Amino acid sequence: MIIAAEISNTATVTPQSPLSIALRVLLPDDAIAFGVPLATLGRWRIGGPADVVVTPPDVATLRGVLAAIAQAGVPHVIVGDGSNLLYDDAGFRGVVVRIGRAFGNFVIDADGIVEAGAGLWVPSFVRKVIAGGMAGATHAIGIPGTLGGLVTMNGGSQRRGIGENVVSADVIARDGTLLRILHADLGYAYRSSTLQASGGTVVSARLRFQPGDRHALRREAIAILAARRAKFPRVRANCGSVFVSDPALYNLIGPPGLAIERAGLKGASVGGAQMSPDHANFIVNNGGARSRDVLELIALARRRVQELTGIAMIAEVRHLAPDGTMRPAHEIADMLAIETTQGTS
Ligand SMILES: Cc1cc2nc3c(=O)[nH]c(=O)nc-3n(C[C@H](O)[C@H](O)[C@H](O)COP(=O)(O)OP(=O)(O)OC[C@H]3O[C@@H](n4cnc5c(N)ncnc54)[C@H](O)[C@@H]3O)c2cc1C
Repeated sequence: MIIAAEISNTATVTPQSPLSIALRVLLPDDAIAFGVPLATLGRWRIGGPADVVVTPPDVATLRGVLAAIAQAGVPHVIVGDGSNLLYDDAGFRGVVVRIGRAFGNFVIDADGIVEAGAGLWVPSFVRKVIAGGMAGATHAIGIPGTLGGLVTMNGGSQRRGIGENVVSADVIARDGTLLRILHADLGYAYRSSTLQASGGTVVSARLRFQPGDRHALRREAIAILAARRAKFPRVRANCGSVFVSDPALYNLIGPPGLAIERAGLKGASVGGAQMSPDHANFIVNNGGARSRDVLELIALARRRVQELTGIAMIAEVRHLAPDGTMRPAHEIADMLAIETTQGTS
């Protein structure tokens, strides 16, 4: 068990809470930590302390952990690599459940269906699919998250999403039951799925791909990685694209990055956060950025692009509030912008 030097004095779950005692019985010592700065769990390197972070080693333990949390009535959130999450400066009053590399199984069954664990690192997953002589996952080679996050976010690149290939997802529901949810019930749409609002935990997914030539697929993967390296900022902490591409905006101007640039905001900064000078749809942390800085930039970009085009951009990045509410970040950004206006008028 790890206890950070400073535990938030507002913590809902402390190391002495009955829930913590139950979690310590279920989990190995190194799989539970208190007062963890969320900045250490996300790609943006932003966020205050979470009361507790647990990293269950297997499905049975995960089910026990979720049941204990439900019984205690404490908020929890599921995270992978935090590559699409904006953690709040005030942290989170509840339990963060991380789906880590222990959930890294990968098998191809006799019918050619891939069954893979939610904790697999996406680039490793894609390499395994290619090594299996299968085409259809290569677009995701440069995405720095877990397969569980990818399946939940319907992540992908080149206007594709992994949902196209998902046959089913094995999910632990909030009440602890293990369900197999079929493609038709996952509600896949551009960068979204019903999993985002369900509160369930994806433990694995079954996916179908087409046969492909390994050598050609490897060459394609290398070309995609080279194109991404040339296009995306790599030095500063960031969470990838902040806004989702919108077909109407695309027809009018192009992708969100170009719209933000046309609105005069490429390179704009608030506090330690900046619209990347390399790619305006990325917000980078230049050091010491707060979630509030990022949210102000999101509200500003949304407002200016709407003034320019009449189209309100939607954030792909999700914000975790201290009470465990997870929403697309623009919803919180707009609320803060309204509060600021009201406060100053
Ligand atoms: C540099 C960079 C480039 C990126 N490029 C792309 C890109 O090209 N295309 C793209 O689509 N995305 C991209 N992203 C965003 C991100 O990598 C993907 O959305 C990724 O799939 C998220 O995975 P994660 O494990 O980090 O999820 P997290 O950020 O940890 O979580 C994202 C959401 O998924 C939920 N979630 C995560 N795991 C599970 C689970 N096992 N069960 C249930 N819910 C879960 C969380 O609750 C949260 O709502 C990029 C990010 C970065 C930093």
